[in-house]
Amino acid sequence: MRYVFAEAQLRHRPPTFLVRGQVKPCPEKPERAEALVGSLRQRGVTVEEPPSYGAGPRAAVHSADYLRFLETAYDRWSVLPDAAEVIIPNVHRNTDMAEYPTGIVGQAGWHMADTACPIGPGTWEAVCAGADTAAHAAMLVASGAERAAYALCRPPGHHASRDMAGGFCYINNAAVAAQATLPILAAQGRAPRVAVFDVDVHHGNGTQAIFYDRDDVLFVSIHGDPNNFYPWFAGYAHERGKGAGLGSNLNIPLPMGTDESTFLDAVDQALAQIAAFGPEVLVLSLGFDTFIGDPLAFFRVTTPGFARLGRKIAGAGLPTVLVQEGGYDCDALAANLASFLNGFAGETR
Ligand SMILES: [Zn+2]
Repeated sequence: MRYVFAEAQLRHRPPTFLVRGQVKPCPEKPERAEALVGSLRQRGVTVEEPPSYGAGPRAAVHSADYLRFLETAYDRWSVLPDAAEVIIPNVHRNTDMAEYPTGIVGQAGWHMADTACPIGPGTWEAVCAGADTAAHAAMLVASGAERAAYALCRPPGHHASRDMAGGFCYINNAAVAAQATLPILAAQGRAPRVAVFDVDVHHGNGTQAIFYDRDDVLFVSIHGDPNNFYPWFAGYAHERGKGAGLGSNLNIPLPMGTDESTFLDAVDQALAQIAAFGPEVLVLSLGFDTFIGDPLAFFRVTTPGFARLGRKIAGAGLPTVLVQEGGYDCDALAANLASFLNGFAGETR
């Protein structure tokens, strides 16, 4: 088991978060990563910086327009008269108007799904470091060097689609990891088949969208019912994939207040589907915002419950890339990660 974390991810510092029209401090803050790294250091494990993988891994899952926007947006925005210190669009693309503008304000609205993904001076560097973190963990596992690796990615990634940020996410780290395994598997003569299992409390709409028409990547997500929870417009049970990907997408929405045993039963159901798909590698989008004490609380998973989750994931018996997603109770993050890793190790040692 290896543990990967790029320090540059701390440079993304979104100041605020708009919730029900109110401006609040952003819960997706660098302290989240510091708490998770602290948890790893307390285990006595080595936390390694990933090497740079360049533009390739992120370009494999995101559009060129979107990546160019992310890279240049802050500089272009900051020369506008009377601009805020971070980019937050006041307009968003809609289905009736679909022309791509050249100006930065319009492009911000095009590429940012909501107001929860502000771009500041350190954002691009941080999210590229996140992609390197995910790509490195994926390389370690797909190459056979390690049975499992943990990518401490922050900000999270699973709401980012091919050309759109949203919900604290910019680069889809889990998609980067999944996509990065495929050529490595193929080069070894193994089937290029990977499953992404998303256990964050929110639906991984970005990951779903990226792989929706593909039959080489299975996407399975357990999450809060989007009728009453972010991301609202995706995550319903009838979304099963399209074209070649029909049947390679499984959503298990659960109601607000879902308790731990119901959540873990859904995990069993998801793992049965994953086993039936027969992937060579499992990528886990690991969110701790299912925690009972999370400020965005929707489910009621306890700290010991994450050890049970970890045991189940390890019990799948697959080479596994763990990719950090959400989890916003900073005081509990270290304990929840430790609990998960204890459970996970119990099956793999
Ligand atoms: Zn989440």
